[in-house]
Formats: sequence, C-alpha cells, structure tokens
Amino acid sequence: MSQCPICEKHEKKKDVLFENENWVITHGPLGSQLLGYVYLEPKRHVENWSDFSETELVELGPLIKKIELSLKELIHLDRLYSVTISEAVRHIHFHLIPRGNTTFVRGIPLIEQATQQKALNENEIEQVELETFKEKFKSTLLL
Ligand SMILES: [Zn+2]
Repeated sequence: MSQCPICEKHEKKKDVLFENENWVITHGPLGSQLLGYVYLEPKRHVENWSDFSETELVELGPLIKKIELSLKELIHLDRLYSVTISEAVRHIHFHLIPRGNTTFVRGIPLIEQATQQKALNENEIEQVELETFKEKFKSTLLL
C-alpha cells in the first residue's frame, strides 16, 4: 500500500535488525534515547487483528520472546513493555520498549519517551553508540 510509512520503510529494507517471511524488526529512533527500543511489524499491510493470517499470529509470540531474550543479553532488562496503538499509522506495529533495572522513568512516561521521542536527557546516547548497539542486537537476534 502506498502512503504507508511502514510499507515504504520495508521496501527500502533500511535498518532491518531481523526479518523472516512475515515479520520485520527495526530499531526505534535516536530521539527516543532508548537502546533496545524496537518495532515489530508485519510485512503485509495489516490494519486489523482479524486480518492477520494464522501463520503471522503463530510467529508473533516467539518473536517477542526472542526480542526479550536478546535484550537480556545486552542490557539489564527489568521489564519489556509491548504497546500497539496503530492509530496515526494504521499498519499494525508493536512498540517493544525496554525498561532497564536502573531506569528512573517508567510506565506511561517511558512509553511517551519512546513513541513520541520525549527523552528527558536528550543527548545522552549518541548516534555511534546506537549503531554499535544495533549491530550487537542484530547478531543476538540471529541466535
Ligand atoms: Zn503498510
């Protein structure tokens, strides 16, 4: 579908951390200031839960588990938030938001920090650090 930023992103195959036949995992933006904040998106343009295929749904749970296990290898993960709103961008997508065990911000403010890039400490994480993290994350996702 044209005009869908997620479908467009998938066409460009940019910044993909992991993909299989049905799903794509990419990292969130630097503006969120959260290492390990990822998007899990179906490759197909799916707007409603009832439009998912059985296969897509069967793969969903294990992928979230894989993301959590990979994050645990890389950061001191206390909670992994899973949020899907898909309002502004209707292509269903999951925000998987890690909260480390030393993170002061939690709950809704952390979800806002991630999804609306409202970081309290704006420049704590630099681009180069994010890129290094993404490479490590990519390799743990393949295990
Ligand atoms: Zn789409």
